[in-house]
Amino acid sequence: STTPLQGRVAVVTGASSGIGEAAAEKLASLGARVAVLARRADRLQDLVERIAENGGTAIAIPTDVTDAAALQAAADRVETELGGADLLFNNAGVMLPAPVEELAAGQWQHQIDLNVTGLMNAIGAFTPQLVRAGRARGVADLINTSSIAAQNIFPAFAVYSATKAYVTHLSRHLRVELGAKNVRVSAIEPGIVGTELQSHVTDQGALDWLEGSKESMEWLTPQDIADTIGFIAALPPRVNLQQVTIMPTAQP
Ligand code: NDP
Repeated sequence: STTPLQGRVAVVTGASSGIGEAAAEKLASLGARVAVLARRADRLQDLVERIAENGGTAIAIPTDVTDAAALQAAADRVETELGGADLLFNNAGVMLPAPVEELAAGQWQHQIDLNVTGLMNAIGAFTPQLVRAGRARGVADLINTSSIAAQNIFPAFAVYSATKAYVTHLSRHLRVELGAKNVRVSAIEPGIVGTELQSHVTDQGALDWLEGSKESMEWLTPQDIADTIGFIAALPPRVNLQQVTIMPTAQP
């Protein structure tokens, strides 16, 4: 079938750009109805209109995922308007590398607030819907965006890498806890993908490293990750890709 996700309801955080935006379009093209979350309402509205033009269904729910109450309100809307989620692509995140001597500049807190607390807020708000869907239809998905940074050592990326190690390890635990309830849990760990993520970086050393890496490799595109998310979601209910590391071919 070209619409293997027909009847499913997906929630995508960080859907206003990059990986989340591409994944929302992919999931919609595979037949899921999609709720798109991020802070930039105008970008979400454009995405919803594009999905509709391509024959899909999506709703925009402008949400700051660091605000637990806002996420709970978003979950209530998904419940009322779409009948509850059976897929959460928990993807909003930020990467702000800096040498540890510069911790005082405060970028560490923002990464923990979004990559850890924001991720948890979404899990807290939507897991009851996923568990209910798992019980009712035999399958639901929680897909968390981690990073190759969870595994490898990149200088100045300590805090970012630690937030992503949290995401990967949490996912392994939740997979065992929720798998028993027909909720599959996956962590996706991309190498470098060309998105707006790099545009927030201020550390000159990290900027030079990122720019220099383009000489030796072709970065992944958001579409590459979106295709993988679609693949994971469309697998038969008995199959759970626990951890997917997806790298530019030439990235060491
Ligand atoms: P982008 O910067 O393009 O996307 C980040 C998304 O998160 C945006 O939609 C942004 O929207 C949203 N976001 C930021 N802050 C908040 C917030 N407080 N509440 C809700 N949404 C928020 O980067 P990517 O697409 O690359 O990043 C997506 C994920 O992929 C991140 O978790 C990142 O760590 C991970 N990743 C990226 C890699 C890469 O090389 N690009 C590699 C490995 C992992 P808005 O500003 O409108 O809120």
